[in-house]
Amino acid sequence: MKLLITGGAGFIGANFLAWEREKYPQDTLFCVDKLTYAGNAQNILPLVGRGEVTFFCEDVANKSAMRRLFARVRPDAVVHFAAESHVDRAIADPEPFVRSNVGGTAVLLEQCRAYGCRFHHVSTDEVYGPLGKGEAPVSEGAPLRPANPYAASKAAADLLCLSYAKTYGMPVTISRGANTYGRFQFPEKLIPRALACIFAGEPVPVYGTGENRRSWLAVRDHCAAVDCVLRHGEAGGVYNIGGEEARNLDLVRSLFSLAGREEKISFVADRPAHDLRYALDDHALRALGWRPAVPFQQGLAETVRWYKEHTAWLEQVRSGAYLAQNDALRGMRA
Ligand code: NAD
Repeated sequence: MKLLITGGAGFIGANFLAWEREKYPQDTLFCVDKLTYAGNAQNILPLVGRGEVTFFCEDVANKSAMRRLFARVRPDAVVHFAAESHVDRAIADPEPFVRSNVGGTAVLLEQCRAYGCRFHHVSTDEVYGPLGKGEAPVSEGAPLRPANPYAASKAAADLLCLSYAKTYGMPVTISRGANTYGRFQFPEKLIPRALACIFAGEPVPVYGTGENRRSWLAVRDHCAAVDCVLRHGEAGGVYNIGGEEARNLDLVRSLFSLAGREEKISFVADRPAHDLRYALDDHALRALGWRPAVPFQQGLAETVRWYKEHTAWLEQVRSGAYLAQNDALRGMRA
């Protein structure tokens, strides 16, 4: 199979490329990524350097660039990770989220329609909006009630995908994953940001009183779930990918304990419309055969170890030095 992975220089996309490369050596892998601030060449340079992935530095929302790319690659399937992904940035400036997450998905869907290829959209539990404390986990048929511009842009992209499945009968699938953690995550997100502070001996900022709860999904389990839906999902199907629920404050405390450092937490003003809780019912995905393989405490311990052993990776991102490395990939155009 010829697979085109979008957003492969980012956190989950880079892990997915490595996962696919190992599991399906016979497949041909292409990656397109605009290399925004969240794209990091270090995550994929070894794969690109060995010729195991062909990389293109392009914007998925750029119609003519995508036309050139599809004409060149002619993929059998597209796995679409590329997105602006940070809620705080979406609240500060929603426009890039609409452009990349909605506009980019629209451009890719049109190309998939022209070339008759399968399309998988990597979406998020945030499209359902917040749950109350005692509420049951949401299943795929629940209404979409996104509460911030990031979540709204992903919900819009989901609806566009479903409309292509209905209108054109295209083989489109969607997965809605829980909060994901693991290696290569940009340190603006809770776990790597907290670890960067912990290793630097700085207090970890926690929103509000730390009561918000998230479901946590190991990146390996997220990759396995996307792969499972891509290969076995029903056309037009939506699949939740659940995780293990934890309160933000408890999570940060676990990180201090796993890193063996003394607890230093500073509670900061809460983010506007900060969703209290997300929790997913993932029976549909389990019926396809997927099971999480990484218990949360084990995954967290592995993650702390990875960032401890890769302080140079973390430092390069924090200092901005990684941007110079990205230049090595910028000339690779479609
Ligand atoms: P990320 O921010 O780490 O990576 C996103 C990547 O997309 C970056 O490499 C960036 O350069 C690229 N990109 C952004 N806009 C682009 C554009 N217009 N054209 C081409 N490339 C572009 O994000 P992530 O955490 O790896 O998330 C990947 C996907 O998974 C996103 O669609 C996100 O909504 C979804 N998701 C993430 C989580 C999570 O907890 N991280 C959970 C569920 C779903």
